[in-house]
Amino acid sequence: MVRTRFAPSPSGFLHIGGVRTALYSWLFARNKGGQFLLRIEDTDVERSTEESIEAILAGMQWLGLDHDEDIVYQSKRFDIYQEKAEGLIQADHAYKCYCTPDELEKMRAEQTKKGENPRYDGRCRDKGDQDGEFVIRFKANAKEDITISDSVYGQITVHNDELDDFIILRSNKAPTYHFAVVIDDNESGITHILRGDDHLKNSAKHLQLMDAMDYKKPEFIHLPMILGPDGSRLSKRHGAMNILEYKDQGFFSRSDVELLG
Ligand code: GLU
Repeated sequence: MVRTRFAPSPSGFLHIGGVRTALYSWLFARNKGGQFLLRIEDTDVERSTEESIEAILAGMQWLGLDHDEDIVYQSKRFDIYQEKAEGLIQADHAYKCYCTPDELEKMRAEQTKKGENPRYDGRCRDKGDQDGEFVIRFKANAKEDITISDSVYGQITVHNDELDDFIILRSNKAPTYHFAVVIDDNESGITHILRGDDHLKNSAKHLQLMDAMDYKKPEFIHLPMILGPDGSRLSKRHGAMNILEYKDQGFFSRSDVELLG
């Protein structure tokens, strides 16, 4: 059975760009007689607000983009991410990194000076347990390029010098987007990942995590997004409106039309 999802980060209201992505995901699931799930990616405690969550839910409801099953809130799943990160350390796929921001900054500056891509050089890989604050990093595959098969973009290869040992758990125990998304998509049985193409290259990281965790790979369907005049993903700062403002202006949604019969 086809299972898709929409996974907004609640750091702002729902605007037409997010709605467009959600619509594809919803249409695909409904067309295939599958299920469409909603997940709130509220791992960034400082930027996520209750107000945004409410605006997203109200917007989806007004549009008639109904979801199946309970909404998954990532903020309620920190214990699970922590447990999985520890499991990866045990399986030698991850390690604790004690590098300070100053040390990382110095590393980057030196690499840039040498004309290299700034990336984490793996210096904590074999350090083992130490005192002090740490993050958990994934041991990336250092040798091979990674090819993503995408239903829209085709075969996209990410060169191995763009891949480094990325962080999966921050020092405050919050998971990074990459880690939480892979675990949750797997646990929710998502078969087709439809999302904005700003995440296309991130899929190389996700594929490595899926291999390490023995997860089944979903289909990737990256969608071109609505952009602002500067070419970046449309946002509030470009003047994008809350989708509910269209309602206030008198636009009808699918749910309004159904109500009218
Ligand atoms: N929270 C991510 C975003 O808003 C979701 C990306 C994804 O669907 O994997 O961009």
